[in-house]
Amino acid sequence: MIYLNGDFLRIEEARIPVLDRGFIFGDGVYEVIPVYSRKPFRLSEHLRRLQYSLDGIRLQNPHSDSEWTHLLEQLVALNEGEDQYIYLHITRGVARRDHAFPHGVAPTVFIMSNPLLTPPPGLLHTGAVAISANDNRWLRCDIKAISLLPNVLLRQMAIDEDALETVLFRDGFMTEGAASNIFVVRNGILLAPPKNHLMLPGITYDVVLELAQANGIPHEVRAIKEHEVRTAEELLLTSSTKEIMPITRLDNQPVGEGKPGRIFALLYQFYQSYKQTTMRGNSSIS
Ligand code: PMP
Repeated sequence: MIYLNGDFLRIEEARIPVLDRGFIFGDGVYEVIPVYSRKPFRLSEHLRRLQYSLDGIRLQNPHSDSEWTHLLEQLVALNEGEDQYIYLHITRGVARRDHAFPHGVAPTVFIMSNPLLTPPPGLLHTGAVAISANDNRWLRCDIKAISLLPNVLLRQMAIDEDALETVLFRDGFMTEGAASNIFVVRNGILLAPPKNHLMLPGITYDVVLELAQANGIPHEVRAIKEHEVRTAEELLLTSSTKEIMPITRLDNQPVGEGKPGRIFALLYQFYQSYKQTTMRGNSSIS
């Protein structure tokens, strides 16, 4: 079951007009929210980032946070599985094709929820293979825009080489992955690139830094040079659906010793116990 503009429908029954600006221009934003034990994880942070993305494209939020919360609760209840992931998508609506914003047009709101399949233990044990590429996306990667063509092409480069992700470099610095944030470990210190217009401010990125802080893992937020990535002890990938994963090969070279490292193992454990805590209703990291 999905939600489309006020109705809960079977996905096969859902239709949008071909003049929807999402279809014509990719004019919209989205969110992906993991759901554990039928409870959306870090919902208020996802709704805050949604508002930031909407502000970034100058589109009014069609719902209050409590309306979104109610819609998501209903959708999760209508779908199978204790663990799901919500895909929420808003476009600038249906209008005659013209780049200029239309007047008096209602946005299109589409939400679906699918089973959440986190990385299998085998993959966490060996670690993921990644390639790298030049970050050729636009300069507003902080907006979670539905126009994802560069990300699609960059991620497909990885798939074509039997890799899971593409690590992106811009002007000699690491930005993020094609569909994830990337952390680097050097000299036992967890390094994260600073949030700016060149990367998506990941919700999982925030959780990982909070967990590092709360558990005394040395960490630093600073610009990370390409050579620091290529000579890292560990590389970690984070996203709402992949959670936290080790990258053990980059461009056919082993990362560190070529197996998941100590900082990954610690953060993975902390992340799993934090999830358990939030499901019991306590969401603060202390
Ligand atoms: N960067 C990009 C480009 C992404 O697509 C994603 C996943 N949506 C992320 C980072 C990770 O963000 P989050 O932890 O909020 O899923």
